[in-house]
Amino acid sequence: MGELKESSEDDERLDRAVETLGGVITEGLDKIKRLVVVDQKPIGRTPRSNLATYTGFFDHVRKLFAATKQARARRYDAGRFSFNVAKGRCETCQGEGFVCVELLFLPSVYAPCPNCKGARYNARTLEIKIRDRSIADVLAMTVDAAFEFFSNDTSLRRSLGVLREVGLGYIRLGQAATQLSGGEAQRIKLATELQRSQRGQALYVLDEPTTGLHPFDVAKLLKQLQGLVESGNTVLVVEHDMEVAAASDWIIDIGPGAGAEGGRIVASGPPEQVASAPQSRTAKYLARAL
Ligand SMILES: [Zn+2]
Repeated sequence: MGELKESSEDDERLDRAVETLGGVITEGLDKIKRLVVVDQKPIGRTPRSNLATYTGFFDHVRKLFAATKQARARRYDAGRFSFNVAKGRCETCQGEGFVCVELLFLPSVYAPCPNCKGARYNARTLEIKIRDRSIADVLAMTVDAAFEFFSNDTSLRRSLGVLREVGLGYIRLGQAATQLSGGEAQRIKLATELQRSQRGQALYVLDEPTTGLHPFDVAKLLKQLQGLVESGNTVLVVEHDMEVAAASDWIIDIGPGAGAEGGRIVASGPPEQVASAPQSRTAKYLARAL
């Protein structure tokens, strides 16, 4: 996610960011304070990053564990519940949950850690529980399950609720970043962005956000995007899904064909207008979605 924060260098940075997207903004730039590209690049390159760490709510979960009576009696702080810190993690696998097995003449393979059995923490850390669940149990929960489990925590309920809204309820909190699809990574970034307080004047660029989404979840995603628009932001979506096109305020139909056959603006305007443009090959599909 390319992101620009409000600062005195904004304009220059925005220009550079737009350049890397391969375009030039000719006017109206003064209306934009932030550019957010929500792409499908991985949220992390190592198994140490996952949904919970990327979105930041794992910090909150660790504090909850540190605040238990049991943890306080042992003087365990939030750091104790990080699998990246020596004191609480399993030292055999250094918090990875698996070990690399070197084989002679064959590529190395990864196997669950023989000591923690994949839990990533040492036995003392795993003794600390919230309603009978250890920190490793929480990482093994899906977003849906965690939403129920932490239902009395307003902050977690909000973070997890947004992830459900973008169709990610089935993902496990501890699922490694490297095991997520491009579409999942993109929706995690979008959910993270949706949780920020909206001050408007941001331009969001999304490349095919409906990839891999069930039609039911496309409707939920559209609701979220509409929310960004209602907060005074602009959402630019590159999309082949006609439900998404039909729900937008303005369509730029690029074609007429694919690859070398395309690249020209065939029609542009509100969906109803583009749907009746005779030169547009997309028109009849768009009309159906309308
Ligand atoms: Zn281990």
